[in-house]
Amino acid sequence: MSGGEACDGKKLVRSSSGLRMVPEHHAARSPFGLDEPPWVPDKDCPRCMQCETKFDFITRKHHCRRCGKCFCDKCCSKKVPLSRMCFVDPVRQCAECALISQKETEFYDKQLKVLMNGATFCVARGTSEKSEMMVCRLSNNQRYLFLDGDSHYEIEIAQISTVQILTEGFTPGGGNTRATGMLLQYKVPGSEELTQIKFTASEDFNSNKKLSAAWLAAMHKHNGTPILIGTAGGYHDIYAAPNS
Ligand SMILES: [Zn+2]
Ligand SMILES: [Zn+2]
Repeated sequence: MSGGEACDGKKLVRSSSGLRMVPEHHAARSPFGLDEPPWVPDKDCPRCMQCETKFDFITRKHHCRRCGKCFCDKCCSKKVPLSRMCFVDPVRQCAECALISQKETEFYDKQLKVLMNGATFCVARGTSEKSEMMVCRLSNNQRYLFLDGDSHYEIEIAQISTVQILTEGFTPGGGNTRATGMLLQYKVPGSEELTQIKFTASEDFNSNKKLSAAWLAAMHKHNGTPILIGTAGGYHDIYAAPNS
C-alpha cells in the first residue's frame, strides 16, 4: 500500500476551546482541516465585537472557537459542530461562524460520506484517448482520491488546481441539466506541469449511474462549501447551473 493511508492513528488533545480528536501525525491531517485561531486577548476587547455592549461582572466575555473574536453571551451563544477543527463536541461560535460551520457540517454528514464510499467512472488520463473503468473514492484521511481498476492510482487533493464538472442536457427552459463527468487538473509530485484526468459516468453501468451522479454532485458541493479553497490553486468551477 502506498502513502495514502499509512498513518491514520488519532489522539485526543485538550485546548482552551475543548476536546479535539486529531491525527497523531501532522502529515496525516485532512486537507480540509483548520487550525484553532488565536483568541483576541481579554485586555484588547472592552466591548462585545458584535453589539458593542460593555463587558463587566454581569456581561461576561466569550470567545468564538472559529474566529477567536470576543463576544457577549447573546452574540456568541450557539454551540455548533466544528469538524474541520476536529472538535469532539459542538463548540461556542459567533452567529457568522455558526452559519458557515452548519453548512460545513452538512457537507461532512452527507457529501463527504458519498465521496468516501466511491463510485465507478470511465477514467482517461493525460492526453490518452484510452479510458479505463475505475472506482474513484476519497481516502479515509481525505487527503487522496484513490482510483482502482486494473491499476491503482492516487491523486493528492492538495495538488488539485482545478475541478470542472461536465454537464449535459440543456433544454430551453433549463432544469434538466445533469452532471456527466468531471475534469481535474493536478500536479504530480516532482513535476511542475499540470496533468489532466477526465472522469465520465459510464453508460454501461445503469445501476451505478445514480451513484456516479451523486458522487459528482458531492464533488460539486465543494463550491457551496469552499472546502477545497486553501489547497494548491483554489477551486474553479464551470458547472452550468440549470437556469443559466
Ligand atoms: Zn454582543
Ligand atoms: Zn466567530
